[in-house]
Amino acid sequence: MRFSRWRTEMVTCIACGNRLSRADLREYDKYGNRWDREGKSFEYLCKPCDRDRCRADRAGLEDQLIALEAGEHSQETFLRRYQCVLERKRLEGP
Ligand SMILES: [Zn+2]
Repeated sequence: MRFSRWRTEMVTCIACGNRLSRADLREYDKYGNRWDREGKSFEYLCKPCDRDRCRADRAGLEDQLIALEAGEHSQETFLRRYQCVLERKRLEGP
């Protein structure tokens, strides 16, 4: 059944890299409109990361992700680059 396959598919959280059942992750659409699904692949956030995301200052985040070419590279490459940016921000301060 399609639905049960959907629930058991394993996907990776784009923020922490944990692999979880897709049913336990939230869809994250970097284009901001998850209902417009044409030609898109979605990314996923686990619930703790999704909560963090809501609290975090998102100003410039989308630009940042696009600058990092999120989705154009392997998960590993992207996470490394993103972590690097976060580290740089942390060192620079607010
Ligand atoms: Zn996560």
